[in-house]
Amino acid sequence: MKECKECGKELEDKEFYKHVGNKDNLMSVCKSCIKIRRRQIKDNMSEEDVKRKSLLDKNYYEANKERISIDNKERYKFKKDNMTDEDIKTRNDNSKVYYEANKERIKKYNRDKTLQKKKKESDEEKQERIVMRNKYIKDYYQRNKELLNERSRLRYKNNKDKE
Ligand SMILES: [Zn+2]
Repeated sequence: MKECKECGKELEDKEFYKHVGNKDNLMSVCKSCIKIRRRQIKDNMSEEDVKRKSLLDKNYYEANKERISIDNKERYKFKKDNMTDEDIKTRNDNSKVYYEANKERIKKYNRDKTLQKKKKESDEEKQERIVMRNKYIKDYYQRNKELLNERSRLRYKNNKDKE
C-alpha cells in the first residue's frame, strides 16, 4: 500500500507505475492521476498544436515512407541473409570465449554491483540509526535532565575538591 501524492488516496502498489530509482521503485503519483495529467496536457494543446504535430509526423512518414520500409526490410533481410550457421555458431562461441576470458571480471562486476546495493541499503539504515540514536539521546537527556545536571555538578565539585 502506498499513498498517492496527488489524490492522497491509500492504494495498492499495482495502482502505481514503476519508477526505477525511487525508494520503492514506484512513482509517487497513482496511475489514474497520471492519466488525468496526461489528458490535461493533451487538452491544453491547442488544435493548432495537434494539427501541426500530426502533420509533421505524417509529412515525415510520407517523405520517408519508402526508405523507412526498405530500411526495415533490408535491415532484417540483410541480417538474416548474412547469418550463416557458421556465423551463429561463431557468435555463440564468441560470447562463450568472451565469458571465459572475462569470467573473473564479470563475476567481480556482478559482485561489486551486489556490494554496492548492500552498501546503499546500509547507508540508509545508518542514516536511520543516527536519527534514532539522536532521538534516543535527546529523550534520555530530557528524562534524566535533573539527574544528569546533579551528576555533572557533583563531578565538577569533586574535581574542585581534588585541586
Ligand atoms: Zn492519485
